[in-house]
Amino acid sequence: MNRLLVCSPLRLEARAVRRGIGDDGDVRQTGYGPRKSAAQAAKLRPGSFGMLAIAGTGGGLSADLSPGDLVVAALVSGAGPAISCPSAPLLAGELRRAGLRARAGQIVTVDHLVHGAERARLAAAGALVADMESAQLLAAAADRPAIVVRAVSDTPQRPLLSPAGLAGGIAALRSLRLAAPALARWAAAAGPRRIVLAGPRSFCAGVERAIEIVERALDMHGAPVYVRKQIVHNSHVVASLERRGVIFVDELSEVPDGAVVVFSAHGVSPAVRDEAARRGLDTVDATCPLVSKVHVEARRFAADGYLVALIGHAGHEEVEGTLGEAPGSAVLVQNGADVASLRPDDPAKVAYLMQTTLSADEAGGIVGELLERFPAARGPGSDDICYATTNRQLAVRAVAAESDLVLVAGSANSSNSRRLVETAERAGQPAYLIDGPEDIELGWLAGVSTIGLTAGASAPPAVVHEIVAALRGLGPVEVSERVVTTENIRFGLPKEVRQ
Ligand code: SF4
Repeated sequence: MNRLLVCSPLRLEARAVRRGIGDDGDVRQTGYGPRKSAAQAAKLRPGSFGMLAIAGTGGGLSADLSPGDLVVAALVSGAGPAISCPSAPLLAGELRRAGLRARAGQIVTVDHLVHGAERARLAAAGALVADMESAQLLAAAADRPAIVVRAVSDTPQRPLLSPAGLAGGIAALRSLRLAAPALARWAAAAGPRRIVLAGPRSFCAGVERAIEIVERALDMHGAPVYVRKQIVHNSHVVASLERRGVIFVDELSEVPDGAVVVFSAHGVSPAVRDEAARRGLDTVDATCPLVSKVHVEARRFAADGYLVALIGHAGHEEVEGTLGEAPGSAVLVQNGADVASLRPDDPAKVAYLMQTTLSADEAGGIVGELLERFPAARGPGSDDICYATTNRQLAVRAVAAESDLVLVAGSANSSNSRRLVETAERAGQPAYLIDGPEDIELGWLAGVSTIGLTAGASAPPAVVHEIVAALRGLGPVEVSERVVTTENIRFGLPKEVRQ
């Protein structure tokens, strides 16, 4: 039996869910309060359903909730040991993509309506919503995938027994109806599966070094420390450093005189360094040494009179920094058309360099076209595409070969993460870039038994753990790892942050 069973305590709640879910799930009205819920849970026969969802309304505890908001339980507390629902971020993300206001968090089950100070006390303990049934009903799930979603009917500002209470109840029932199709998609995504982790994945030596530089600058100088551009292209890293007192700016003009400013791992052009020096800013350079190596090559070729074709992507900070090392001598080349439009003064004096995070296949194609037009073109002394980019691409190709679907953890502005998606797609598998589990569309998972999972060089390892944990909420997961090589590279820190 693989059907979804939705338990809704009240008749109006069950009706709203039934209207939204149609034939994609069985909806049962289970009755109001903990006693009836426990009795209904005891009656549910093992094997009479596949997945269990509990859907109803609830009292909002947190002051930032509004009637109609949806809370998906990551944790249900209140009656016996707390029960976790690991797939909560998946459903919360799906509901947001459906245009609903939804978040994952703690739901507390109580045995009476809560008011005033008690609401505040439960909110202070971390709960977002209170209900009177979820903990008892969840017990029926045993080891089956289970989820709880509550639509907020009342809030501390708009209590149940107030003139606004009726409108809040109507908003909650409407949200329940609109949320029901996502419950069906959640159930369709459930099932046992394998996850194959790519190795290596996640942080590279340049990213670890850049983060350590900022952390040391904070320890040495105190907050705020300014960072020009994102230190690395990852939203989790940026948010975590912001919480510690880092201020990220786009330009040095936003940095006050006398402040400490860190240059990001992607590097800066000499013009930016000159501006910082002119302003007397206290700078620390977190440019990855492998990016600095490309800068040195650009300066050397330009000094020797070469036209430097920089293979890369327009607008990327690393590209801007490298072009700035050889103004007037370096041009960006993104494709074959750019190669065809090159007009060097001396066709025998063309050199090419690369952005460090390119796809090896894509860059190789452009180099081929360059050499066809300029057979004497000179390349870098050693590969510009860095070891971390290369290793992660080899690893994702290996896992793609044994997966139905590949997930790449990384932010949308992360070049190396995006190249991992392209590499997996070239290997013939659907692949998606996700910042975290909430970005996984449930429709991707239906019918998928093996997921390849990797992370870009700027994505923290913790995100991979969160993704695996969320997928475990959809059924038993067997995790294995495909390691194509191991890495033991470390870069030294700049003298400004060495103790
Ligand atoms: S991806 Fe490569 S170039 Fe970029 S920071 Fe990491 S090691 Fe350095």
